Amino acid sequence: MVKSNIYSEIRKIKEYALDHNIPIMVDDGIDFLTTFVIKNQIENVLEIGTAIGYSAIMMALANPNLKVTSIERDEKRYMEAVKNIKALELEDRITLIYNDALHIKMDGEYDLIFIDAAKGQNINFFEKYKDHLAKGGFIITDNMKFHGYIDKKEEEIKSKNLRGLVRKIKDYRRFLEENEEYKTMFYDNVGDGVAVTTKKD
Ligand code: SAH
Ligand code: MG
Repeated sequence: MVKSNIYSEIRKIKEYALDHNIPIMVDDGIDFLTTFVIKNQIENVLEIGTAIGYSAIMMALANPNLKVTSIERDEKRYMEAVKNIKALELEDRITLIYNDALHIKMDGEYDLIFIDAAKGQNINFFEKYKDHLAKGGFIITDNMKFHGYIDKKEEEIKSKNLRGLVRKIKDYRRFLEENEEYKTMFYDNVGDGVAVTTKKD
């Protein structure tokens, strides 16, 4: 596929996300993630939360040796992701699974697990998938700042639902900070906040 077509496909995906309120990773976060997969020679990614395939596509385009398996539970988004991956001719390197990541049984080992799904479930995703991490592998979690809500006072957040989510993201941060088996670096100024976790040896 020629480069100009790749760019125009990606532009279309980003426009679709904007038009349909789909929370794809922000540019700064994507730069971090794509640089990360190149630098660390990541070849095998498990992504939790495909949405319309944007971050999976960007990782695959960054590193031609990289394969992604990505899970999405929303049918409409999954269908859109299938379409986008086909348009970019990446079907041989991106495998999509239409299911709830908390309910399916996966196998295999991955050198990167990218957690970017329901923000209140991060501890559950981590616990469920940590044993699928290859030796020396990484777990990256997006939206540690939750669109800036993390820095707001509770009384400033009007919706009860939102307050609950913010609390859960704070719990997840503490869970990572206090974890005896895993070490985490928090990149609070990258995109919407990105955490990179590795297993201690
Ligand atoms: N990684 C994408 C954005 C994902 S948005 C990108 O940056 O391009 C988060 C997605 O996770 C949503 O589409 C939502 O439907 C999905 N999701 C949330 N909880 C999930 C679960 N338990 N299993 C599978 N997908 C889930
Ligand atoms: Mg995200």
